[in-house]
Amino acid sequence: MKIIITILLLLLFQNNYEYKNGIPTKDGIANYVNENKDDIVQEFELFVGQKFFDYNIVVDDLKDYQDYDSLEAGRYYQDFDIIISNELKYLDYELSFMPKYKQKKYSNNNKFVKAVVIHELSHLYFNEIKLEMQEKRMHVHRDYHSSSSVLKPKTISNADFIEEGICEYIVCRMKQSICDNNYKPKSVEEITSIDNQYNIKYVYGRTYLTEFLNKYGIKQGLLILLSNEPPNNTEILYPELYFGRIK
Ligand SMILES: [Zn+2]
Repeated sequence: MKIIITILLLLLFQNNYEYKNGIPTKDGIANYVNENKDDIVQEFELFVGQKFFDYNIVVDDLKDYQDYDSLEAGRYYQDFDIIISNELKYLDYELSFMPKYKQKKYSNNNKFVKAVVIHELSHLYFNEIKLEMQEKRMHVHRDYHSSSSVLKPKTISNADFIEEGICEYIVCRMKQSICDNNYKPKSVEEITSIDNQYNIKYVYGRTYLTEFLNKYGIKQGLLILLSNEPPNNTEILYPELYFGRIK
């Protein structure tokens, strides 16, 4: 009887992550990530149709790290390491935990722990495809060789624009973010403005690539994107120029 009650209690509470003042706590974030990371990885691998060589996901306070930026919630280092921040800045563990009527208000996916894990896994995937291409002696454009896996909003690189756009596209397609924000810049100044980098890389980057990736699929799309020079600012403003050039 005792065992049955224990099992029932475990079943009842298995999705009860800790909240304080309505938001995920530090311990709650660590528990959530540790309990779910392997499942999230599996879901990701199924989605892209490929297994990771390796991965290592840990939880830590990113505020203590060098070059910390208040907008970042996760980091990826090229040797398979992903850090998910345990700061009290998430709205919830997963978008789906939030009532539908509330979801609409939050298009920023760095407000959900699972979305951040998937965003960082996308960087890992991006890097593995690059390695795979190099192993097969396929051409990877040099601008992608040292793509910054650590968010650096102060530096503007158009290879980052593509990389972040892919990450956000995957988060969106895996239904971890509300993808109804269709911001589009109206000038090159808007693209290069330092204050506007979040919108450009994370919102516009995704919408910029959506049609192309829907058409070719993620893997084939990535092979094409990585072998071509990233778009310049004019091509970022006018996508038809970039997608007309790459092959
Ligand atoms: Zn990123």
